[in-house]
Amino acid sequence: MDFSFTTKEEKFRLELRAWLEENLPEGWLEGTSNVSKDEGEYAVFLRNWQRKLYEGGWAAIAWPKKYGGREATLMEEIVYQQEMVRVKAPALVNYVGIHMVGPTLMQIGTDEQKSKYIQKIITGEEVWCQGYSEPNAGSDLSAIQTSAVKDGDRWIINGQKVWTSFGHLADRCFLLARTNRFDKKHKGITVFLLDMNQPGVETRPIIQMDGQHDFNEVYLNDAIAYDAEIVGEVDEGWKVTIALLMHERTGIGAQVFTLEQQFKELVALAKELKEDDMPLMDNPLVRHTMVDLYTRTRGSLLNYYRNLTKTLKNGHPGAEGSMDKLMVSELTKELLSQSISLQGHKGVLWKEDAISSNSYWQDNYLYSFGQTIGGGTSEIQKNTIGERILGLPKDMGR
Ligand SMILES: Cc1cc2nc3c(=O)[nH]c(=O)nc-3n(C[C@H](O)[C@H](O)[C@H](O)COP(=O)(O)OP(=O)(O)OC[C@H]3O[C@@H](n4cnc5c(N)ncnc54)[C@H](O)[C@@H]3O)c2cc1C
Repeated sequence: MDFSFTTKEEKFRLELRAWLEENLPEGWLEGTSNVSKDEGEYAVFLRNWQRKLYEGGWAAIAWPKKYGGREATLMEEIVYQQEMVRVKAPALVNYVGIHMVGPTLMQIGTDEQKSKYIQKIITGEEVWCQGYSEPNAGSDLSAIQTSAVKDGDRWIINGQKVWTSFGHLADRCFLLARTNRFDKKHKGITVFLLDMNQPGVETRPIIQMDGQHDFNEVYLNDAIAYDAEIVGEVDEGWKVTIALLMHERTGIGAQVFTLEQQFKELVALAKELKEDDMPLMDNPLVRHTMVDLYTRTRGSLLNYYRNLTKTLKNGHPGAEGSMDKLMVSELTKELLSQSISLQGHKGVLWKEDAISSNSYWQDNYLYSFGQTIGGGTSEIQKNTIGERILGLPKDMGR
């Protein structure tokens, strides 16, 4: 296995670097940009940023050229991830649209759906959310209860979704609803491309323990969807559901580059903080922990590359993505916990009180717990690894 980048890939990196330097908001790299923290204004800022990415050809690099992408190779996608992480680029507001809904519609959508939605996804004109989880259906997604009942060429939808990321910003939702009840729970589910801007849809915020508002509850009270907004066949939405999840899990593994970056920043923190005039990095116990974290961070990266190589050979991602998701999310939490310990009693200070002006480590540590849950919990990843990679007996609970 050769993981070094070719001259062409390095040229691609330089092109992206130059574009970022030119186009990132003023003061972004220096940490002095004055982006508004007001939720409404921040949403506008994120939409504008995606528009800019689109105009520069950097919004959805893996997409086919006919949809505005660059048909980037997997290696170019790696370079892209590394560079975006390096500059801590603003979040991609239409992450769900670009990485999940768009590719799924290209694979399974009708021609009408492709022409109606895909262009607006890449430009950021229409932001999407994923309406899968419900109060009693998360790991066991097939237990969803939200119902859709046919009424002429329309469907009347009632129920509740939860943990809907970007739901408060979204114009459309990739929504699962039950259209029939069969003995097998996986049957009788249909996928709708729901318009969020209608009276039957109510979005309520959920504030996370890091104080941020990323996800929501979504209440559906006689919400309306039309036949033309169904993806795949009525009652056969489970295949579509899984197709979208495969795209989600492939993307999550790429968080390994954020992990790698955070490890470098942790080393810098350990060199900066002192105890009795001695940098913490010189403390043997700290050094020991750092070596351990380095070894496992490096292991996660190499494992990610190994799984990518397999994807390149097979043409599609496999169950190994669960290993990436499990290792990276758990290790990220551990690394960030170490960053808090290094700060001693100041580690528990937050926001304005924190030792660094922006409580970077505290915010990331609090956020890291959700990463071990979203996209499938660590226990579910272990089940997948056990069953599909190690060939162990099936989980009795499912
Ligand atoms: C940051 C974040 C973003 C999210 N974004 C979205 C989104 O945009 N759209 C969306 O639809 N959902 C979203 N979710 C929801 C997420 O998909 C669910 O939280 C997740 O699937 C777990 O479901 P649950 O919360 O219902 O927990 P449960 O499934 O009830 O699990 C509770 C506990 O039981 C364990 N458990 C459950 N089943 C088993 C089993 N068979 N074997 C062993 N242990 C088991 C779990 O690991 C967990 O520890 C998001 C969640 C987070 C944290």
